[in-house]
Amino acid sequence: MDALVIPLDGWAAGERNFRSHAGLEFFQTFDNTEILDADVDVEVKVVKAGARRLTADLHLRGTVTVPCDRCLEPLTLPVEANPRFSVRFDAVEGDLSEDGREILPVGVTDKELDLRQAVYDYLCLSLPIQRVHPEGGCNPDTVRFLGHGQENEEAAESSPFAALKGLFDAN
Ligand SMILES: [Zn+2]
Repeated sequence: MDALVIPLDGWAAGERNFRSHAGLEFFQTFDNTEILDADVDVEVKVVKAGARRLTADLHLRGTVTVPCDRCLEPLTLPVEANPRFSVRFDAVEGDLSEDGREILPVGVTDKELDLRQAVYDYLCLSLPIQRVHPEGGCNPDTVRFLGHGQENEEAAESSPFAALKGLFDAN
């Protein structure tokens, strides 16, 4: 993942493009055990306007495999994100720059721009909250074993109303 650690000095103003790939080992370096597999292409365009003025535009695209919430079998999800950063040497993280880019702070003495955390964060953020196979795609055996079937979900949903109904009836 060296292409995601970009030297800040030693190159003239201009545009540079980097390509990288985030596989399973990338997620493992962040101690993420939730990701079962990953195949994500990372394109980085860094524009240097001055010694201390840079922007980094990323394009992340590929697939990430996680356990299905319902049956625990592997579920491969498409991921895509286009985070855009303005590199600042004196800024606070989370601010937005004038051109709508997210501000990415670096230390005044930093020699390189490490984009690995940003790539990791955006890949995790691009995953949906609910991760389940499309209808009928789950492994019926594990669903039955885990008790996460459709019938059970419906029963759980209806129970609070059933309880309320009982309360009103009593009054
Ligand atoms: Zn499933």
